[in-house]
Amino acid sequence: MKRGYLLLLFTGVLFMLSARAQQTSRETGQEEVYFRFISKSNDLRALGPNISIDKLIGDTVWAYAIKKNYQEFQLKGFKTFLLPHPGDGPGVVMRDQINRIKGSRTTWNFYPTYEAYVELMEGFATDYPDLCQLITIGMLPSGRKLLAVKISDNVTVDEAEPEFLYTSSMHGDETTGYILMLHLIEYLLEGYFSDPEIMDIVNGMEIFINPLANPDGTYRGGNTTVSGARRYNANNVDLNRNYPNFIDGPHPDGQPWQAETLAFMDFASAHHFVVSANFHGGIEVVNYPWDTWALLHADDAWWKFVCRQYADTAHIHSPAGYMDALNNGITNGYAWYEANGTRQDYMNYDHFCREVTIELSNIKLLPASELEAHWNYNIRSFLNLMKQATLGFQGTVTAQDNNQPLAATIVLLDHDQYHSEVKCTTLGDYYRPVKAGTYTLSISAPCYQTMIIPEVTITDGQTLVIDVQLDPGLDVITAPVTEISPTTAMSGGSLPCATEGITAKGICWSTQPQPDLSDNYTNEGPGNTGFVSELTGLSPATTYYIRAYAIKSNQTTYGDELSFTTLCGAVSTFPWTEDFEHSGNAPTCFTQEYVGTS
Ligand SMILES: [Zn+2]
Repeated sequence: MKRGYLLLLFTGVLFMLSARAQQTSRETGQEEVYFRFISKSNDLRALGPNISIDKLIGDTVWAYAIKKNYQEFQLKGFKTFLLPHPGDGPGVVMRDQINRIKGSRTTWNFYPTYEAYVELMEGFATDYPDLCQLITIGMLPSGRKLLAVKISDNVTVDEAEPEFLYTSSMHGDETTGYILMLHLIEYLLEGYFSDPEIMDIVNGMEIFINPLANPDGTYRGGNTTVSGARRYNANNVDLNRNYPNFIDGPHPDGQPWQAETLAFMDFASAHHFVVSANFHGGIEVVNYPWDTWALLHADDAWWKFVCRQYADTAHIHSPAGYMDALNNGITNGYAWYEANGTRQDYMNYDHFCREVTIELSNIKLLPASELEAHWNYNIRSFLNLMKQATLGFQGTVTAQDNNQPLAATIVLLDHDQYHSEVKCTTLGDYYRPVKAGTYTLSISAPCYQTMIIPEVTITDGQTLVIDVQLDPGLDVITAPVTEISPTTAMSGGSLPCATEGITAKGICWSTQPQPDLSDNYTNEGPGNTGFVSELTGLSPATTYYIRAYAIKSNQTTYGDELSFTTLCGAVSTFPWTEDFEHSGNAPTCFTQEYVGTS
């Protein structure tokens, strides 16, 4: 009786607290609202960063905003319709304890409380210590954690294997992927010993799974329920617009980087993800780069192939109508609508990754009873996408002189652009998923000679291992041109590779591009130290091209080309007389003008 009374009192206090919190956010206009409106213009960017576009179908736009910004938006004359918030949807079933039984699979028809989620993640690592490691990506000011698991054989060792990342629910009210990722973790760990396909995947890769990228959004209603989940994080920031972008600068949304963003950027920098996927909801479609501009990704054909495979496979395992939005379940991001500061673009550009955005269910906060069905629709596609990280060109790049791994860059010539090239990990291994075709590979590393491997043909679904050793080389860096006068200038060079046996070095120059030692040059003597050179005997007002050079073993290596223009010559002989009227030449930089006769 006493206990019952206490519980009642406690609940009452909680209710009052949450009611007060809600009232406060309503009073200040900070409450997150969901609405739709008709936009006659395609330029959704012009709406400004205070409106977070959720999706666009025809000319109808669904969007989020905090109430204050929503009201300002209405004043601009848009006819808006306020909608029920997706995070308040029905069908939520919560469990505060998940009795996962090792050796069998859980029926995932519920949402865990926040504490149960943390316990689950810890439990995976405890139950499968040889296969699973728990990683805390970050700790939020709220005290909630950003968690991931690493799944691989020899899980405590960083092996020369492709790294793959699944991450979900950076929009807190899009929860389908959250549960499907918990399901996937259990599926991989449980299936490892009985299913050869799973064993192959786990042995051949390092798999990272972050089920919940915005716990403050998902548990906005409190740790015990996902009812009341919100898109934004605790600061009302849309995390999928909060990343630096190569076009729009470090802060496309005008907001500082959030704790979630900073933690994830550190996590991405500490790894080398070959392929990753980022799960969302509200529509059923696979969205490939870019989001921020109309230019196509260099691997557009590969993206279409992989996304088509994802959607088509889901179609086979689901009832008609699942994942058929836009182009029957796939779309180019920008072609759908422009979004700036997305994590997909950040990963693909800043980290040379292949990240795709997958929208898993039309209903954002999926009723718990539908979670198992959505798992069945997607599991084959999940596995197929993971395997993509193991396909294409791959290998190890080492140094010929000491066999050490090299920080090499692998470029497909006449193909790669906008950071679609790939780089080696610290172990020297590289992975380059690619669509079937014939490619010329350029493999380069600082202080080593670039290797060109011409016309290698690869088919879809093929893995071609190309291990290479690079010979030591010489890097020559041309110093900027300074102290430019009409007839002289200063430059120089540096030789960062600590190479011995350099017999000569200097600057060569010409009025034509690509100057070499058949043109004018300085010789600053032997040794691999940096040097300064004075260029003399130049003509006034003339454009010159220069390169630093160094000679070793009778081979000449050139640095990058720079160009500059000498200053105008001064007139020093007075009075200057010139037969202007009769085809005379004005001194350089002077023009002649007819001013009449006197
Ligand atoms: Zn989303």
